[in-house]
Amino acid sequence: MAGNSLARLIPSKRGKMGLYLILIGVQGAGKGEQARILSSEYGIPHVSTGDLFRAMKTRADPLAQQLQATMAAGKLIDDVTTNEVVRERLSQPDAAGGAILDGYPRTPAQAEWLAAFLAERGERLRAVILFELDLFTAFKRAFGRVSMPDDTKSYNIYYNSEGLNWTFEDHPEQAYPPRLVASVNGVALKRRPDDANAHAIIKRIDSFLEQTAPLIAHYQQHGLVHVVDAAQSIADVSASLRQIIGVQA
Ligand code: AMP
Repeated sequence: MAGNSLARLIPSKRGKMGLYLILIGVQGAGKGEQARILSSEYGIPHVSTGDLFRAMKTRADPLAQQLQATMAAGKLIDDVTTNEVVRERLSQPDAAGGAILDGYPRTPAQAEWLAAFLAERGERLRAVILFELDLFTAFKRAFGRVSMPDDTKSYNIYYNSEGLNWTFEDHPEQAYPPRLVASVNGVALKRRPDDANAHAIIKRIDSFLEQTAPLIAHYQQHGLVHVVDAAQSIADVSASLRQIIGVQA
């Protein structure tokens, strides 16, 4: 059964509807990891607005710098800029058969814009997958996340710290909260700037509750929402997703 329905959902090159999926959930719920798995299984791109914005880091123009400051503070980037970045990405040829949207839409205005953008192309959203996770776990997943300088491997001080040396280092004048310092075999690990600041993480959780969570009710009215328990292992979440996408067709 799953095989049949999966086959019907896989985007075809013969002009069938694209497979546009939204992964929604608080930061740390594992959307990025699952999006990467789905992307390779279904051959459609993983479109993460957070990644797209982070990729602008190397740019020195004032807009790029302003975006980095907004992100570091855990605040949302304005809807017009965000929608424009998404328009550009979804207009690439590799997104013609669908895309896995991760971290987008985050506001009702973005959801509206996306619906109109897809409708213009004769497309529509196929499913909204809600990654359900308690907020304390979400905090620890983000705050504890550290990775190799080249991003080849990531760890978490709370959940996956084997081989990891980590400690909290006090600010010399104790003017700031202690900083997390982590290394593996003498290699210093790095953290995303927006994960390094506990306040910014809480701010992101708050903006999820205030601005993004209401989208769930909106998509529920359209019968698009499917819930996954994001506290499960990566493999179990993946299996749940396959089942949802299969049944979706
Ligand atoms: P993420 O990697 O999804 O947690 O995103 C990191 C940061 O990028 C967020 O805290 C926001 O500052 C910005 N960002 C990512 N996606 C959006 C979005 N859809 N709307 C507004 N800001 C976003």
